Amino acid sequence: MINLISDTVTKPTPEMLSYMMSAEVGDDVFREDPSVNRLEEKVATMFGKEAAIFCPSGTMTNQIAIKVNTQPIDDVICDVDSHIYQSETGGYAYNSGVGISLIHGQNGKITASQVKDAIKPGHDWQPTSRLVVIENTCNKGGGSIYHLDEIKPIYDLCEEKGLRLHLDGARIFNALVETDETTHDWGKYFNTISVCMSKGLGAPVGSLLIGDLETIRLARRFRKVMGGGMRQAGYLAAACDYALGHHIDRLKDDNNRAKQIGEILQTKSFVQSLKPVSSNIVIFQLIDDIRDADFLTDLKFKGILAAPFGGNTVRFVTHLDVTQDMCDQVCDILEKM
Ligand SMILES: *Cc1c(COP(=O)(O)O)cnc(C)c1O
Repeated sequence: MINLISDTVTKPTPEMLSYMMSAEVGDDVFREDPSVNRLEEKVATMFGKEAAIFCPSGTMTNQIAIKVNTQPIDDVICDVDSHIYQSETGGYAYNSGVGISLIHGQNGKITASQVKDAIKPGHDWQPTSRLVVIENTCNKGGGSIYHLDEIKPIYDLCEEKGLRLHLDGARIFNALVETDETTHDWGKYFNTISVCMSKGLGAPVGSLLIGDLETIRLARRFRKVMGGGMRQAGYLAAACDYALGHHIDRLKDDNNRAKQIGEILQTKSFVQSLKPVSSNIVIFQLIDDIRDADFLTDLKFKGILAAPFGGNTVRFVTHLDVTQDMCDQVCDILEKM
């Protein structure tokens, strides 16, 4: 079976596993796990920030980010397709007591002028606009990529209006290998950044929230209250450390393989529309005559697993455990359908 359901399905490589097994560990709730401490410092430095905190999931880092950047009855501005709105169980309302103003962007990407229009004037009867969330790459947008020159005007606007800016960078490295921009460049524009280690980077578990010292100190309290304080988490941090050292550059292969699959899909009559393929995600809508469930069953029969993505669309995600050979097989199979 070739599993294109998500880039979260990867298993640790033998090298990663052996690196994990030799990790030096301690109790991270007491800040005494050297492997966690080293990872937090490394990731903070990568983005030119003061501090970072290791968490079990990207949902948790995003939820903590919303919490540290807002007060109850504040308002968050983001794209309608964003993960924090679509895929975190409504946690913004539950954990932070905030509302949300949705922007209908382009493939998950929003512009400064759209953000400007979404900012509320600040009457007593309105929630207070407080935080803007950018997702790069944007998952439901088809893995779309922002360039820094699109971020700068949003940053300037946030500075001018006193809004905070969070980056959901679950797949930021899939973007950066395409744009050749640096983590350091990106770090300058955001109050907080979350990055996932368990997506394309191939670690089994882990996400980090990055920011200034005071923000991350507060984040530690919220991680604890959410039950996210882990003990000998250094085994997991070691996997993340390994992934950062060995699995970033190869994301380019994943992106190229997704593009290869996209090029085949573009020619197929069963495809109604295909989102532009920019990174490792391929999202396409089937023609009305073909139901997603039937299409996925047929694919499964042919040895490919994929995910239904709503509205008769299907998502393929390439990752560490999809080799070039497997990608060629997928293309062959799709070609013959
Ligand atoms: C996967 C993902 C997350 C975090 O998900 P977890 O499964 O909780 O780690 C956050 N944002 C985006 C865009 C994602 O794709």
